[in-house]
Amino acid sequence: MTATYKAPLTDMRFALFDVLGAEAVFARLGFAEATRDIVDAVLEEAARFTETVLAPLNRIGDTVGCSYDKASGGVTTPPGFKQAYAQYVEGGWSGLVSPVEFGGQGLPHAVGVPLKEMIDAANLAWGNFPLLSHGATEALLQHGSDWQREVFLGHLVDGSWTGTMCLTEPHCGTDLGLLKTRATANADDSYSISGSKIFITAGEHDFTDNIVHLVLARLPDAPAGSKGISMFIVPKMRIARDGRLGESNGVRCGAIEHKMGIHGSATCAINFEDAQGYLIGEPHKGLLAMFTMMNTARLAVGLQGLGLSDRAYQHALRYSRERLQMRSLSGPKFPEKPADPIIVHPDVRRMLLTCKALIEGGRVMGYHGASLVDIVEHSEDVDERVQAEALLGFVTPIVKACLTEWGVECTYHALQCFGGHGYIADHGMEQLARDARITTLYEGTTGIQALDLMGRKIMQQQGAGLRVFLGMIETFCNDNAGNESVAPFLAPLRQKADQWQTLTMQVAQRASGNADEIGAAAYDYLFFSGYVALAYWGARSVAAAEASAQSEAFKTAKRQTAMFYFDRILPRTLTHAAAIASGMDSLMSLETHHFDA
Ligand SMILES: Cc1cc2nc3c(=O)[nH]c(=O)nc-3n(C[C@H](O)[C@H](O)[C@H](O)COP(=O)(O)OP(=O)(O)OC[C@H]3O[C@@H](n4cnc5c(N)ncnc54)[C@H](O)[C@@H]3O)c2cc1C
Repeated sequence: MTATYKAPLTDMRFALFDVLGAEAVFARLGFAEATRDIVDAVLEEAARFTETVLAPLNRIGDTVGCSYDKASGGVTTPPGFKQAYAQYVEGGWSGLVSPVEFGGQGLPHAVGVPLKEMIDAANLAWGNFPLLSHGATEALLQHGSDWQREVFLGHLVDGSWTGTMCLTEPHCGTDLGLLKTRATANADDSYSISGSKIFITAGEHDFTDNIVHLVLARLPDAPAGSKGISMFIVPKMRIARDGRLGESNGVRCGAIEHKMGIHGSATCAINFEDAQGYLIGEPHKGLLAMFTMMNTARLAVGLQGLGLSDRAYQHALRYSRERLQMRSLSGPKFPEKPADPIIVHPDVRRMLLTCKALIEGGRVMGYHGASLVDIVEHSEDVDERVQAEALLGFVTPIVKACLTEWGVECTYHALQCFGGHGYIADHGMEQLARDARITTLYEGTTGIQALDLMGRKIMQQQGAGLRVFLGMIETFCNDNAGNESVAPFLAPLRQKADQWQTLTMQVAQRASGNADEIGAAAYDYLFFSGYVALAYWGARSVAAAEASAQSEAFKTAKRQTAMFYFDRILPRTLTHAAAIASGMDSLMSLETHHFDA
């Protein structure tokens, strides 16, 4: 039987309000509506919706999946998905964090993230349908013309249309400079778009009567490579100047993919044949506009990893308390029972605590990323905005890659807690593990996040974001010098912060001799960064818990989880540091044609 999902509201509120001080931040940024009472009420209602409407559909989404009708090119979503979307729209969830002037509720992004986490934990495949509407909204808000905002934004915000992100083509995924989809100017201000995109999430479905595709394509005079890419908005149904829906555009779903997980999410091949589209932003500057969308989407995919980890952990914890096997090595802990529950065994505790530490630290990490988006968009203090922007750019690849890789790790630990019962379908654990796998791949693979961090955020931007993060660690350590509750954590945290800086300089120096040094260090550098960042958030959580009105049990659990993290997970940085320090030689010296020698 698939276990249920319970939104972790206590820890979500703790991360938001106690650790990140969200209430004061919201007030300072001018979010008059985002009072503690309102946010609490929103989270309660979000929990009700995700627990009772979305979570029960998770299994059927996996077993039935989406189906494709070749004759019509239509996609039918799993039973219940369409009705759940109608409830989502009806509940106003679609426009929760969108601007009021376009029909949204104007709440901060930091309030949108717990909702996102709950949706993904409850039903990741379903969550992929509304996901890209948010990215499309952001791209249009920042780069769209007045007419485009007027005609498209209201529908994306109220959920009556959904959005997609059409980048990938059969021969190009990571390397978008290779894309071939063409755009030619029409006599009016529109363009004709032709080409084939693959792997398009929510490219076709039965939720809404229109779908808004944001498509990357090349104009005839485009320079070669990534400098020649433009972004277009291409609706499934044509749009008249006054915004009325016209006949169908030249957009057709040619197939859906059969895949390892997220069976309930439609992954579509979309063919554009002289489809009418509109240029967003300037010609050849499409990647810039797409990056607006991708950054939002990258944080969102990080939260997918977090949501799945948490759901899997909840199931594993429940099971580990109930499943009776063997006696504790140090003598029976429940002598009245025929055997002890498996949670007494050190190895099971290792798996559970690893999940708990990565999830709780990861939650603060992900929510912090979203709170930076609010500061970048709403702060009136220029210095604060500049710092937040550098920090956001720096933490985005860390959030995306770490939370998703930890999502894979945690869903596997949780499955392992079930023994063989985790491998069979009944408990839903194998679905969570399969669903988690995609998160490390789409929106840029882990390797590409690492390259973004090391190449762009460290090398090109001279580590501006890293300096802000190191400053946060320094301030925390100074402010808490006399705080006994965090005393065990301060020295290791300072030591790791120093090492972070030293490693960064070493790689930068080596890279001046050979740029491959960047790629050789990138993956380990990203995880070194992620584990140090998590140590910081773990220590800050302990301090915040002590200062809060949380229960004694909660405070003790935070402290002991942090102890476990510092003792048993933070040492992973030793391996990463050693790998970084070894440089590129052993990685790059084997000749390509000797790999099978
Ligand atoms: C279920 C699903 C949904 C998706 N949804 C969408 C969507 O909505 N819209 C969309 O446009 N796309 C979507 N994608 C596509 C997805 O974003 C790409 O699959 C992904 O970006 C990787 O591209 P690729 O598969 O072509 O792999 P490739 O680019 O061929 O990469 C293969 C391997 O090489 C590595 N690699 C490539 N270049 C480098 C480099 N320079 N340095 C280091 N390593 C490198 C990669 O990390 C990877 O491990 C989806 C894919 C799937 C499977």
